[in-house]
Parts: sequence; structure tokens; C-alpha cells
Amino acid sequence: MSATDVETRGEDVDLQERLVRCEALLQGHFQLTSGRHSDRYIQCAKLLCHPREAEAACAALAARFADLDVDVVVGPAMGGIVVAHEVARAMGLPALFTERQNGEMTLRRGFRVEPGQRIVVVEDVVTTGGSVKEVIALLTAAGAEVLAVGSLVCRAPSSPFEQRFESLFQIQVDSWDPESCPLCAQGGTAIKPGSRPGA
Ligand code: ZN
Repeated sequence: MSATDVETRGEDVDLQERLVRCEALLQGHFQLTSGRHSDRYIQCAKLLCHPREAEAACAALAARFADLDVDVVVGPAMGGIVVAHEVARAMGLPALFTERQNGEMTLRRGFRVEPGQRIVVVEDVVTTGGSVKEVIALLTAAGAEVLAVGSLVCRAPSSPFEQRFESLFQIQVDSWDPESCPLCAQGGTAIKPGSRPGA
């Protein structure tokens, strides 16, 4: 396995290159935290931990919203915190993040939105869109208007949102129970992402 072997389809080659360069997008044979096996692995934190990579990737996402009149950018913890911060930096806006308290998505730390504020909600990876939908519900209940959603990576086959949705890179990752994993059937051994192959 090497980082340059990754084959994906995507809209934004630049983000794909960033993900590969940062080892945030890997191809191989992986055991996911769910226990399922996969031939690819995405961990945006591996890109976002490099501030200049994060800044550049999020500036590209922010550019997708250049036609909108936005007041504030909001992202759900954890993945959305850095993305909201860097998208907001590029747009010259404040960034807030939501977090769960007793399982419920909330604004804490003195963060609040005002009725009528125009908001873009951002995330690092959208899979089902569940967390973002909870953020949208929270903001809408406060009287704010969610104009659009943005994510660096979209793993969903189509947009899960009613709002406009912008994503820099779309990828669908298959996973299998170990018993039906084609890579195991070929005699391979799954590794946990983050561990070195052969280590
Ligand atoms: Zn396997």
C-alpha cells in the first residue's frame, strides 16, 4: 500500500491530492472501528491537523459560498470545529461550533445565534448528514436561516439535505463484515488505520 495508489473519483482533484498527501485518504485493507472491513479509509483530522492544508482546503469550500450573504459559520464538534473556523476565516466571519450535551446538539460557551441571522453549516465529512441536520434544526429553532451546508468530503450517494449542499470531494467507501470481506478471502489481513502496515 502506498499513498499514491489511491484510486478515487472526485470533483476536486486538489482536495483529493491534499487528502492523499496528508495520509487522510488511504487504500489498503482496514478494520474500521465498527469492526467491518474496508479497502479505503478517510480521516480528515489527518489533513486538518496541518493548519496550512486546513486553511487552503477550507478556503476552496468557502469560495463555493461567495454568492451568499452570510453572517456566521457553524459546525458540529468535533469534525466541524476546525472546518468552521477555517471557512469563517476565509469569509471574514465568526465561527461557532455546536456540541452534544446529554446527547442533544446544543450551543454552549456563550455561543448564540440571533433570529434572522444567515448561516452556513459546515462539516469535515458528511455520511448520513445526521449531525448536520441536528445543527440545522437547532439553528432554525433559534430563528436563524440556514442558507447552505458545506463539507470537505461527502460519503453519501446524494445530498441528504433540503438546503443547498456543497462538497469538495465525493467518495463512497464500501465495507463488509469480516466473513464476507473479499480482501480477507484473498488471504489478506486487515489493519487498524493509524497502525503501520506490517507493524
Ligand atoms: Zn478483510
